[in-house]
Amino acid sequence: MLFPPLTRPRGPLRTLLTRLHPYRVPLILLSLALLTEVYLHNSYYNIRHPARDLDVPFHTSCQEPDLSPTAPRESAAIVMLARNHEVEKALRTVISIEKHFNRWFHYPIIFLNDEEWDPEFISTMNETVSGGAKFEVVSPEEWGFPSYINEDRARQAIDRQGQQGVLYGGLESYHHMCRFYSGKFYTLKALREYKWYWRIEPDVEFYCALTYDPFVEMAKHEKVYGFTVALPKEPATCPSLFREVADWKDQQDYPTTELWKAMISPSWLPWPLRKMMSWFSHRDRHGDGWNLCHYWSNFEIASLDFFRSNAYQDLFEHLDRTGGFYSERWGDAPVHSLALAMLLDSHKVHHFEDIGYRHDWYYQCPANAPGGQLLESEVLGEPAFEVREERQDGIGCRCECDGSRTRNHASYCLNRLTQPNKSRRLGVWGWTRSWWP
Ligand code: GDP
Ligand code: MN
Repeated sequence: MLFPPLTRPRGPLRTLLTRLHPYRVPLILLSLALLTEVYLHNSYYNIRHPARDLDVPFHTSCQEPDLSPTAPRESAAIVMLARNHEVEKALRTVISIEKHFNRWFHYPIIFLNDEEWDPEFISTMNETVSGGAKFEVVSPEEWGFPSYINEDRARQAIDRQGQQGVLYGGLESYHHMCRFYSGKFYTLKALREYKWYWRIEPDVEFYCALTYDPFVEMAKHEKVYGFTVALPKEPATCPSLFREVADWKDQQDYPTTELWKAMISPSWLPWPLRKMMSWFSHRDRHGDGWNLCHYWSNFEIASLDFFRSNAYQDLFEHLDRTGGFYSERWGDAPVHSLALAMLLDSHKVHHFEDIGYRHDWYYQCPANAPGGQLLESEVLGEPAFEVREERQDGIGCRCECDGSRTRNHASYCLNRLTQPNKSRRLGVWGWTRSWWP
């Protein structure tokens, strides 16, 4: 017999079904109601599909840099926090940013430290920069435990995180650094005169020439925040951060932006089971989760005014008072990212996909723009390597990292966080393709 007759269930299942039989209609209706509820709840977090791309590269090929004295410039500085012993790595970064960008634009570089600067560090950098350098020391109020924190308890928490193997969790200075970059950085006296900053770090490499002024373009296009790489956060560093920000969002009655939706993995459980999920970390009080995506903050080109605004500084102050920068190891990257998602329309965030960038083992490398390499340009000079132009949709300018392929790490988050600005959606193949060499 091809199909054996269906046997009726036996044993306890049969007993259960028999018992439930009289209630089958209400049970079916209840299941349908729960499924509908889950569907509607998840639909609420669907990211709206814009009719046109809301964020595109400022330029898609090399530009002739405008060197005239009347060329438009913005009030901006390049900023690097560093330690004296990082002089070699810091120098590599400065050489790279000068070679690929600042030799045409001469923005000042401001170096920040929590300790006095070594004369060697100062002279090395002064010899290398083209737009002047400033060497600032951050005050203990800006770098250290805030007055309302119990220092003994904070140190115990830091030790505990060290024992638990939380990434950098056992390093007190790292906690201070994250708190500093989350909030105090923006109100530094040394940055008061500027509207824009470009954050760099020791051990950073740029791969492409940046032949236009990113600050001018950010201002012109009314952007607030520019990034290169987006990644998922190490969950153990910040179990309660998302909940704090999400509660703040509810408390302040901020509407849910498309960018906020991009940060959310909605729960598939029906209410009220979903609500119970709020007991877990990285969940809001409704039970929905954060997908841990954030902009990697060692590269940022952004508006100081945004981060100096009451909306941002009030959030920072609130987070600071919870003690989470010490009881956990909240990083500045997720703090920035969740705040941006909460407060900004997605088109205010710019993905610098034309900038070739590496820090640690994460990088972004665009393909070169065919026919757009200005190989004859006197200002740009002759490239010291063979410029490859192999991809029709390439947007890079003289990228050294092969230049024939677009490459990016952990593209799930990049794809997710740029979705609110994209008119076309990439399938899974589209966003995983760039993982492979
Ligand atoms: P990672 O990128 O998260 O691995 O962290 P890093 O060690 O690169 O630190 C981030 C930035 O903060 C870098 O620019 C470091 O130079 C800087 N930094 C970290 N800790 C300290 C510190 O204790 N003092 C100073 N002055 N800078 C620090
Ligand atoms: Mn780093």
